[in-house]
Amino acid sequence: MIEQRIADVVARHTRDIADFPSPGVVFKDLTPLFADPAAFGQVLDLLAERHDGVDVVAGVEARGFIIGAPLAQRMGVGFVPIRKKGKLPGDVVSASYDLEYGSATIEVQTDAVTPGANVLVVDDVLATGGTAVAACELIEKVGGRVACLDVLVELAFLPGRERLDRWELHTGLVVN
Ligand code: IMP
Repeated sequence: MIEQRIADVVARHTRDIADFPSPGVVFKDLTPLFADPAAFGQVLDLLAERHDGVDVVAGVEARGFIIGAPLAQRMGVGFVPIRKKGKLPGDVVSASYDLEYGSATIEVQTDAVTPGANVLVVDDVLATGGTAVAACELIEKVGGRVACLDVLVELAFLPGRERLDRWELHTGLVVN
């Protein structure tokens, strides 16, 4: 099964960094995956294989760019960056979400997708789900249809999946 094969490669190329970015947090670091062209290429091939009928790939700054841009190329579709507030030129729409302390805002250009386009949204890690919900809402605000949300690592001890029940969600490595 594709999901299991992605999980196996991601598990072998992910490391835990204790107390990052703050004490008590175990950060899933995917830089070993990005540094290994064979493993990263395999994950991209598997992601491309599992998604059919996608018109555009959207990635969330910053690691969603690393995954999303080469994936879009492999799938023969365009890539749309979803960026932190104030980084994109021209007309944008915004969505805000809560962080542990404070809030964050991400944006996409209003003309980023053609109306009704099937958009695959990608990111590296699903934690509380705030980023992913905001990203999917942004795609819908600009007229796209979220075909699927795909993340490489799901932190299943956090409520991300529950908050995303409006969209199809695929994850690779599930951390309990
Ligand atoms: P959420 O909004 O709480 O789901 O956090 C997800 C966002 O934070 C994603 O854009 C991830 O890149 C980042 N993130 C959260 N936890 C981790 C982690 O352990 N490793 C890498 N990125 C993380």
